[in-house]
Amino acid sequence: MLTINDNFLRLAPSYLFSDIARKVADYRGANPDAQVISMGIGDVSRPLCDASVDAMLKAVEEMRHAHTFHGYGPEQGYAFLRQAIADNDYTARGIDINADEIFISDGAKSDTGNIVDIFAATTKVALTDPVYPVYFDSNIMAGRSRSSIEFMPVNEANGFIPDMPLSEPDIIYLCYPNNPTGTVLTRHQLAAWVDYALEHKSLILFDAAYEAYITSSDIPRSIYEIPGARKCAIEFRSFSKTAGFTGLRCGFTVVPHDVVGYDHHGDKVQLHSLWLRRQTTKFNGASYPVQRAAEAIYTPEGKQQIRQTIHYYLENAATLRLSLIDSGLTVYGGTDSPYLWVKTPKGLSSWDFFELLLHQADVVVTPGVGFGNAGEGYVRLTAFASHENTAIAARRITDLLK
Ligand code: PLP
Repeated sequence: MLTINDNFLRLAPSYLFSDIARKVADYRGANPDAQVISMGIGDVSRPLCDASVDAMLKAVEEMRHAHTFHGYGPEQGYAFLRQAIADNDYTARGIDINADEIFISDGAKSDTGNIVDIFAATTKVALTDPVYPVYFDSNIMAGRSRSSIEFMPVNEANGFIPDMPLSEPDIIYLCYPNNPTGTVLTRHQLAAWVDYALEHKSLILFDAAYEAYITSSDIPRSIYEIPGARKCAIEFRSFSKTAGFTGLRCGFTVVPHDVVGYDHHGDKVQLHSLWLRRQTTKFNGASYPVQRAAEAIYTPEGKQQIRQTIHYYLENAATLRLSLIDSGLTVYGGTDSPYLWVKTPKGLSSWDFFELLLHQADVVVTPGVGFGNAGEGYVRLTAFASHENTAIAARRITDLLK
């Protein structure tokens, strides 16, 4: 008889987006003429930049001929891409990260989910509430007990900056700019976490998937801007929202040589060597054309083209933010982030406000409670729709709340 990994049965069912889809489908069914606009989905709407498409076409052409064909690539990623990342995202910003500390992958979801493979099931974990659900679910799948996971609430009272954990966790997940709240940490605020981690020998898993949306100079774009972070942090990055790679799939994880864990004798082990072993065993690399497409965003044209698209989404965020605030709503995020975290009016629950906006404004948002209990009383809006739809949705919400 086959015994399953019944940790999977301990997962809470993931209903959020299917519940939303069902409610929207029911509403559309009953109101076939309604022009429903989704401001809830985390996918991008702008196409890939020309530099990436051209690089990919060239790479695909190389795959046609025996003398330029590429088969299996290095599991850690091609040197051309790792070097471009090291040069542009780190060295050019005065950050000490080398190409061989960078692991290319098919995106940050896989890496943030898979990283738990290299830690003991007995490690204690701290997460924020609300949270990107992958962090919690991957720990449950790995057999970690609910009681070894501390939720650190982020809310208006603490300005969406979690209080230091109570449980002395071994691993702390931080995501900034944050999904879902759209809030950020200043350099000073992030430094407090690095100090905590160094003092308590904990590891910070820093998800910087939305780093490209940072425009304020006091907000760090990498945790390695903070002195000491090379010793206590792993950083995850994604090309999904930076360059529209949600459908292409490419991201990377930085594991500095200085980050260590301890074996059961108490001896130090480099996490870099464990992650390398994990990746070489279970991952065969992102595809060659996709890595060429990613490399192209570091060319002068590529940089300029992706900046335009990010600017486009940031304009949406600004439009939404201004009109929601004008409508009397309390809005967080949306300045260094594509997400807006909006407090529901009149104490409505997340789902009640969702229903109100769907039924009275034909606008779909994401109920905040879907990201954790502390998200109750909020909804998340994203800046990834077109300018046109964003302006229409903003106007409809303003009209409704007049
Ligand atoms: N991390 C966060 C916080 C995200 O919101 C997302 C995507 O929505 C990801 C990681 C996953 O990104 P990718 O498309 O690279 O898998």
